[in-house]
Amino acid sequence: MRPSQLKKFQEQQAKFAKGIGKRVERITTLWQTIQTNKTSTHGELDELVLEAHKLAGTATTLGFVDLGERGRDIEVLLKPSLEGQENPWPNTDMDALIATIDDVARIEPKRPEDLTYGEVTLLHEQGRTKQLVYVLADDLSNTQEMVEQLQYLEYDVLSFDATDDLKEALSKEAPSVLIVDINECDLLSKVTKVWRKNSGIPLVVLSSTECWKSRLLAAKAGAFAFFHKPIEYDDILSVLDSLWETHNAQYRVLIVEDEQILAEHYSIVLQGAGMKTLIVDDPEHLLDELGEFSPDLVLMDLYMPNCSGVEAASVIRQHSSHTNVPIVYLSGETDLKLQMKALQVGADDFLTKPINDLHLTQAVSIRAKRFRQLSALMDRDSLTGLLNHSNLKVALDRELSRARRHKSPLSFVMIDIDHFKSVNDRYGHPVGDKVIKGVARLLNYRFRKTDTCARYGGEEFALILPDTPADIALRLIDEFRITFAKTPFSNGPDTFYATLSAGVATFPEFDSIESIIEAADSSLYMAKEKGRNRVVTHVELDANKKNHA
Ligand code: GH3
Ligand code: MG
Ligand code: MG
Ligand code: MG
Repeated sequence: MRPSQLKKFQEQQAKFAKGIGKRVERITTLWQTIQTNKTSTHGELDELVLEAHKLAGTATTLGFVDLGERGRDIEVLLKPSLEGQENPWPNTDMDALIATIDDVARIEPKRPEDLTYGEVTLLHEQGRTKQLVYVLADDLSNTQEMVEQLQYLEYDVLSFDATDDLKEALSKEAPSVLIVDINECDLLSKVTKVWRKNSGIPLVVLSSTECWKSRLLAAKAGAFAFFHKPIEYDDILSVLDSLWETHNAQYRVLIVEDEQILAEHYSIVLQGAGMKTLIVDDPEHLLDELGEFSPDLVLMDLYMPNCSGVEAASVIRQHSSHTNVPIVYLSGETDLKLQMKALQVGADDFLTKPINDLHLTQAVSIRAKRFRQLSALMDRDSLTGLLNHSNLKVALDRELSRARRHKSPLSFVMIDIDHFKSVNDRYGHPVGDKVIKGVARLLNYRFRKTDTCARYGGEEFALILPDTPADIALRLIDEFRITFAKTPFSNGPDTFYATLSAGVATFPEFDSIESIIEAADSSLYMAKEKGRNRVVTHVELDANKKNHA
């Protein structure tokens, strides 16, 4: 948290603390009134749920985490009554919550420095499409080339040569990363006065001296990475890639739960932590949803009316494409026997209901992350991190069935670097690899999360664009082609450029994996024939064939 914010936060915290007594009293009184009157209490009930809701939101935000949770519990408990599904009384769960709310209200709030996790979440909730990078250097001409590189990759870069300016910018908007280029260790000490480790903004230090002092200083300051100059931009970009990964790790969680309120509650909590969720309340639809949603984790209720969680899990495990997805059960404490049985069909963990929000988020994200990492090793190409050839076909199969079902268009694109042999010949294989990585990186930055990017082989790439007709695909890929042609690559002190060609084919014109790949490949071939550094769609290909016929 920035120093200016810190003070404000503490003031807010103190102000809120003063009013807690009143809020708790209000909630307690409302609950008593509802119970004694037992008639037409909708006004009070509405008010109580609203108070609880406000408590949940505000208290949590201001560090009164336990009290906030209590508010949320009350809200969840009373929602069904509000929707007229059941009487609000008697409700022993509510009685228990109210009986102890006074004690909970006395729990000390979390200190602001322990809340940085929340701040980081807020950052990408802002929905910035471009990542913001701040660069501080004592000599800006040293960083000019790097800044240009970053801008080609669609980073928003702001440069500063004075810490005061940086300070002001930091208080306005937090960047995704702060890069500091130093000639003198001095600058680093100044930086630590305006930037703090707890801000959640990773610090990358580029240093012209590799003196022990600067390394130590960087480490003490809490730098995320330290580079000794001259640097390979590729290394910097790799660091940014990994930051981007963690920022964008939107884990997908499939929630199988027959109790709608609980399912929604889990869903809201996980979404709050940046995850994407899908609720399945009837195991019958499980396999369909599993294929289409491809979750990183399944959260599975043990008790459901038509089929138990264990049965549902074994159905998932029988399916070869889902043998590895982690399944985490949610069960009551008394389900010991069931838990044992569940373990045998490959459960990964048990979480006990009721579960604390933070615990749920952590338990889910840790396992989802591990699953992502493991499947990345198996499904992805090691040089580029893109999907590999065989998994591209699995993805294409899935996307084509989805397009068929939704009657929506889909574009499939084949991309090939031009005259790549001569890049290798001129600069060597390792530099060639950098160009391949450059294409992969640009693909990752340019296309939506719902698009699939793959390394088809060697210097060939494939791209699946759902919901995209040929004309739009042509425009997107052509913009991509132009950006790539302008992206500089370094070979030692020299800079060079490369180009690529692409072929596009579209569903429904081509409706099988084989035919759409073949059509995209023929279009690519035509792009090469016509002189390279261009994009051709099957539409042009057809017109060309007719002319020749
Ligand atoms: P065109 O414009 O017709 O595509 O010409 P090209 O030279 O790119 O075509 P060609 O397919 O004949 O050559 C591809 C070259 O890519 C040959 C191969 O040595 C090289 N290559 C394949 N995989 C890799 C890799 O992983 N790294 C590097 N550096 N080179 C690779
Ligand atoms: Mg249930
Ligand atoms: Mg090729
Ligand atoms: Mg080529």
